[in-house]
Amino acid sequence: MSQILYYSTNLKAGSVSFRNALLKGLAPDGGLYMPESISQLSNEEIESFSDKSYYEIAFSVARKFLHDIITDDELLDITRDAYNFDIPLENVYEKKYIMRLDQGPTASFKDFAARMMGRLMQYFLSKDNRSLLILTATSGDTGSAIANAFYGLQNINVVILFPEAEVTDRQRKQMTTLHKNVQIVALDAKFDDCQSLVKRAFNDPEIESLNLSSANSINIGRLIPQSMYYLYAYSRLCNIKNNDTIIFSVPSGNFGDLMGGLIALKMGLPVKKFIVTTNENDEVPEYFKTGNYKTIVPSLNCISSAMNVGHPSNMARVVALYGGVMNEKGEVIKMPDMEAMKQDMFTISISDNETLEMIKRVYNRHKVLLEPHGSVGWTGLQRFFALSPEDNNSSQVSVCLETAHPAKFPREIQNVLGIDPKLPDSMKGLEDKEEQFVRIENNYSIFKQLLKKKYS
Ligand SMILES: *Cc1c(COP(=O)(O)O)cnc(C)c1O
Repeated sequence: MSQILYYSTNLKAGSVSFRNALLKGLAPDGGLYMPESISQLSNEEIESFSDKSYYEIAFSVARKFLHDIITDDELLDITRDAYNFDIPLENVYEKKYIMRLDQGPTASFKDFAARMMGRLMQYFLSKDNRSLLILTATSGDTGSAIANAFYGLQNINVVILFPEAEVTDRQRKQMTTLHKNVQIVALDAKFDDCQSLVKRAFNDPEIESLNLSSANSINIGRLIPQSMYYLYAYSRLCNIKNNDTIIFSVPSGNFGDLMGGLIALKMGLPVKKFIVTTNENDEVPEYFKTGNYKTIVPSLNCISSAMNVGHPSNMARVVALYGGVMNEKGEVIKMPDMEAMKQDMFTISISDNETLEMIKRVYNRHKVLLEPHGSVGWTGLQRFFALSPEDNNSSQVSVCLETAHPAKFPREIQNVLGIDPKLPDSMKGLEDKEEQFVRIENNYSIFKQLLKKKYS
């Protein structure tokens, strides 16, 4: 097997190694990196997963991409260190399940990708004896996932800017109680102002020597880890010897989670259908229906807030996987094979009303607690069953991904159910921890001085 290279979805930049795609993030032509080939898992390998723990499955999947650049021992150390928490599969009825991806340190599925990406970056940086300064602006959840994932790693410092008035106390404390290599900066300004300071820093030649990187959601290092839990779910609920197939429902915003699933499919996982559910930002379901892709600007504010996306950044990858080309503006340069896409995916948009109604229904009927994102996914699955009765039989295994912990949405849960969701262990005790952060004015030269003083 020769080394897998990564091409840009815009097709105007050369292919690069995994290491370079990981450390760069975005390709120089503005495209996203995609593997030139995806290695297959044999049926025997998939069968063997039923006896393996999550981190061992993660290792086997990562190895298909990284076998010739990271030794097995080192890769196993990385996955063992990244995945030290549970992945509960909760039965709802018959063979229909919720997979809770909310047991990581910041209680959302983003932990799966961020923790693995951080450790992979550390691996390559320490080999080269280099260091990296991760700079991120956050309006809440992304910042805490990145801060927690990179906390305590060698060769990497993290600076996170947040708008002081726009994040909740709990969100702030998830970032400011970490310390070590994580520096938190509060701005008396809006999220967009934080974002523009970060952008200016990336384009400032005077601080190029600080080696800035963004660790944002389009990094290839976040995609591969998001294929692993699909294989895990299959290993626990299905048997490949019996030709079992599985249906996944994926609540989607930027479509990174779904791309992970599609990679698992291309690796050989027998997925019958992906139910791709969005909130009222329905540009992708509309694209599947009409063949016209129209971005939604500005995106609509729905209660499943992490999915308020009017132009999913990973759509270019989904299109690329089916032979098409979409640029960063969302223009379709070459049509993908729509028939093949519809074969693999059923897309549907769910309203806020339906989302709240389903939280109530599932809790009352099954005593299963969903939060808004998972409820969008579960509603999409039920709608698919209603439209496709031949798939709605008691023996069909179906799994809806629950992407966040209900305790992250106490107000919505309290409103529809009148109960307070219990905090997960990771979110307990924050009140007693010491907070550390600096406040600065919304002024680029002050921000730049801070970076230079601390990191050059
Ligand atoms: C980010 C996020 C999503 C959407 O995932 P994508 O990969 O952007 O499609 C769904 N739910 C939660 C809770 C999230 O944080």
